[in-house]
Amino acid sequence: MKKKRILVTGGSGFLGSHICERLLDMGQEVICIDNFFTGRKDNILHLLDNPYFEVIRHDVTFPLYIEIDEIYNLACPASPIHYQHDPVQTTKTTVHGAINMLGLAKRIKAKIFQASTSEVYGDPSVHPQTEDYWGNVNPIGIRACYDEGKRCAETLFFDYKRQHGLAIKVGRIFNTYGPRMAMDDGRVVSNFIVQALRGEDITVYGKGNQTRSFCYVDDLVEGIIRFMENTDDDFAGPMNLGNPIEFTILELAQTVIDQIGSKSKIVYKPLPSDDPMQRKPDISLAKKVIDWEPEIPLEKGLITTIEFFENQLKSL
Ligand code: NAD
Ligand code: UDP
Repeated sequence: MKKKRILVTGGSGFLGSHICERLLDMGQEVICIDNFFTGRKDNILHLLDNPYFEVIRHDVTFPLYIEIDEIYNLACPASPIHYQHDPVQTTKTTVHGAINMLGLAKRIKAKIFQASTSEVYGDPSVHPQTEDYWGNVNPIGIRACYDEGKRCAETLFFDYKRQHGLAIKVGRIFNTYGPRMAMDDGRVVSNFIVQALRGEDITVYGKGNQTRSFCYVDDLVEGIIRFMENTDDDFAGPMNLGNPIEFTILELAQTVIDQIGSKSKIVYKPLPSDDPMQRKPDISLAKKVIDWEPEIPLEKGLITTIEFFENQLKSL
């Protein structure tokens, strides 16, 4: 097999590092680019000995000239506290980053995957969310830099397909968790596990009756790879990728406490503005087109995730 040379933007982040690893395991050559805003060298340390793995410190808001066969565009902070830290930079990363990566894909005729998000549905009025739902996003709220940035990126991807005939793959990723999430990035699974391991209060925002559907990282990576590898070039999506089993945030808190056997108490904090009340993917399209559905239930995925955070805490 001739190795493909594949660019992974945001390759040192949580999902990006798993994608890099999976592509190397498949025998491909991988170039990871990252500005290390939320990514960490620790996530890719174990890949650095592989001669077919390269890392370049680069910000996707600047153009990149490189010769590759495929692109996975994941660069962008994904947790609300990080993408709200410098919202202008978040919009630049999603929009200028998309323009730069699409420009690169166009020049070298590369197939390109876009890590889009369930956030394009905003606070949804259709449940579960199907790909043909246009969403309910506040364009001027604190989440807009990310939500609208990702929506604009989708627009750019589809315009590059229509205007320039690019092979694009737009995956709408729903909440994903697993080893290599950053301990301090404020997302709910990492927050609750770290709080429970430390015996600290578990911070539930609002009443905890808002819902999310949590996908284990290995399941998600499988879905992304199948979408890129096993679909015709003219099939662009958008395609929901996530676990359709829905939990309230309070149920998640209780599950984490029980699995760790923690003495932590649940405390209630104000709900951040524009926090979506419910979220659950309809994955019929992914089932039909790539024969994919998640296999790892929350309780099982939490075991390895808890182990990961235990080791992180020990190494502090
Ligand atoms: P993450 O924060 O761990 O990873 C993002 C990576 O992008 C980091 O390594 C970061 O340093 C890098 N990055 C940020 N801005 C950059 C820039 N301007 N130039 C170069 N690199 C930059 O987040 P993640 O969970 O791994 O998310 C990866 C992608 O998947 C993101 O695009 C995110 O929007 C999308 N996504 C993730 C989830 C999820 O639940 N994890 C859900 C929906 C969508
Ligand atoms: N959340 C919470 N406590 C926390 C962190 C998050 O109750 O310590 C809630 C948050 O308000 C949201 C849900 O958990 O309703 C998921 O939050 P996350 O930031 O993980 O992802 P997103 O809101 O982008 O889905």
